[in-house]
Amino acid sequence: MASCPICKKTLRASNPPTAPQSRFCSERCRLIDLGNWLDGRYVVTRPAPSDPTNPDGEPDEQELLALLRDLQ
Ligand SMILES: [Zn+2]
Repeated sequence: MASCPICKKTLRASNPPTAPQSRFCSERCRLIDLGNWLDGRYVVTRPAPSDPTNPDGEPDEQELLALLRDLQ
């Protein structure tokens, strides 16, 4: 059975799975998790090149190649 990642409380079966806070037992725990992200507790590396929000391809790789050229 799923449990809240913040307080480890077992999620109630009546909790609708489509609710935005479905991973959490309550709105409070959801906000705590959001705060953890904002604090940088979860370090996120640069998005994958196949990121659908980045349809322009792989700008990071282009920047890296340009940087390597400058160094040589
Ligand atoms: Zn909780």
